[in-house]
Parts: sequence; C-alpha cells; structure tokens
Amino acid sequence: MRVKLVAGNWKMNGNLASGRALLNAILPPLGTLNRARYVVCPPFPYLAAIGRALEGSNVVLGSQDLCQFGDGAYTGGVSGAMLADCGCRYAIVGHSERRGVFGETDDVVAQKYAQAVKHGLTPIFCVGETLAEREAGVTEAVVARQLDAVIQHCGLQALGQGVIAYEPVWAIGTGKTATPQQAQAVHAFIRGRIAAADRRLADLLLILYGGSVKANNAAQLFAMPDVDGGLIGGAALVTDEFVAICRAAQKAEETVKT
Ligand code: PEP
Repeated sequence: MRVKLVAGNWKMNGNLASGRALLNAILPPLGTLNRARYVVCPPFPYLAAIGRALEGSNVVLGSQDLCQFGDGAYTGGVSGAMLADCGCRYAIVGHSERRGVFGETDDVVAQKYAQAVKHGLTPIFCVGETLAEREAGVTEAVVARQLDAVIQHCGLQALGQGVIAYEPVWAIGTGKTATPQQAQAVHAFIRGRIAAADRRLADLLLILYGGSVKANNAAQLFAMPDVDGGLIGGAALVTDEFVAICRAAQKAEETVKT
C-alpha cells in the first residue's frame, strides 16, 4: 500500500537560525497529521543540527544530494555513509539543478542512486523534461532514458528501495505548475513502464510530483491516482504553505482510505 509523502527541499537557502525557526513553526501542526510521511532536506552544513531538532517529531531528515563515490580522496564530497551517520533517511538524487547547473549525467545520477541505497538512504530520484523537450514531444523518451540509467546500473529491484519524483524542469521555481492531468499522464507512464517488468514493484512505488506545488494546487495534484505526494521547493520555506501542503497530503490519504 502506498502512503503519501511530502518532502521539502530547502535548496541553498537560509541559515541555522532560520531553519530552526521554520521547524519551530511547522513541527507542532505537522505533529497532528498522522496519515502521510514528511521529510525536510536542509543544506549539508545544517543536517546534524536540524536532525537533532527533528528528534521525537514525525518529520525525518533528508539530504539534497550525495557523492557518487564512497569515502575516500574526493575533496568536497559528502558520502552516503556520512549522511546516514548524520541521521539522514532520504537523499535527493538527480535534481534538475544538479543535472543542469552542475552537469550531472544520467550515469552519475545512477551511481549516486546506488550509493544512497548502499548506505540505507531512500533515494528521491528526480526525473523530468525541459520545456524544449516537452514542446518537441519527447517527454516520455527523456523520462524513460533517465529511469533506464538507474535500472541498468542498479537493477530493477533497486527502484523498490527509492521514491521517484517527476519534476518537469519548466515547472521548478517558475510558478508554472503542471496541471493535475499533465502530472498524472507522466506518472502513469512511469508506473506503466515499470509495471511492464514487475507489476507489484510498480504498484508499491511512490511517485511524487514536484514543480511549483503550492497550498492552492496541492489538493488537486494529490487527488490524482498516480501522484503519491510532492517534492516541494519554494513553498517548503514558507510555514503556512508547507503546512497546508502537508495537510492536503493527509486529507488525500483520508479520502482514499476511508
Ligand atoms: C524543487 O526544488 O524540487 C522544486 C520542485 O521547487 P519548486 O517547488 O520551487 O518548484
């Protein structure tokens, strides 16, 4: 059975004080929500402190990235082992900003996925097309290529140890959300492609949507049959927005399961 998940990606924003203040504001209301799962992904330097602040709450810690290599001579890298040691349970892998700004290839993303799994972190594996790719009609081909890179490197069953986030690049940080129907279509494509190889794996797989999810569109997105929650950027830094999105996930769970 799939349970909705909301992950907040703080990106490279704020400082320790603002992170703590945000938690002070979101943890009490989130503590009243018992149906969905919640994750926050602060910048690397704050992981340990934010992790301590999350103790005893129903929100868990995730990282925004990890190194594709294990511990060793990789100056500036942060390994999966270190992240697990700091209390991370999730790691975002292949975010479009990592792919686009930092030049991460499908192969590097696949290596990162493998490192996350190796160290007991649940990868939040991001896939999605650019605006030019959508307009050229190659959305499914792009998403299939990104998925296949991980499947080839890690094996199909490794997908069962992660969560997929469909994040159309044109919707990230732009205020242009995919319509619920556009999101559903790609989510159904992803699930169908995996189901062709393993139906049970596909049925259990969480597929999040990310791209300008806000309080005013979360409920419609989460109501789609193949949308299992959201990866939230900008709105994850705004108390009322993030809490409202988490409430929408709880409501969607109540609607589906009662
Ligand atoms: C993201 O950073 O993954 C994201 C979806 O950002 P935003 O919600 O701001 O579009």
